[in-house]
Amino acid sequence: MRLACPHCGTIATIRSSKELSTTVREASVQCNNVECAHTWVTRIVADRTIAPSMTPNPKVYIPLSPRSPAAGKSAANQMELGMEHPPPRMATG
Ligand SMILES: [Zn+2]
Repeated sequence: MRLACPHCGTIATIRSSKELSTTVREASVQCNNVECAHTWVTRIVADRTIAPSMTPNPKVYIPLSPRSPAAGKSAANQMELGMEHPPPRMATG
């Protein structure tokens, strides 16, 4: 996982992380730009389900994305799932 520094845009390094819950992880992140040196804490959250687990943990609830194929959308919409896939290219004629 690559994170950009919110101040200078340089790729940063995750220095340490700890599990806050089964769906939330907190990480200390340090900018790789020595002139910036920003260090911060970020959270990684299991936010939406795209494809349901085949071995679900009954104690875990991650809501289904409205764009998930499992939510009843057509296959044509599967390419619009946000960060996991780039948006479809538009024909420019
Ligand atoms: Zn920076």
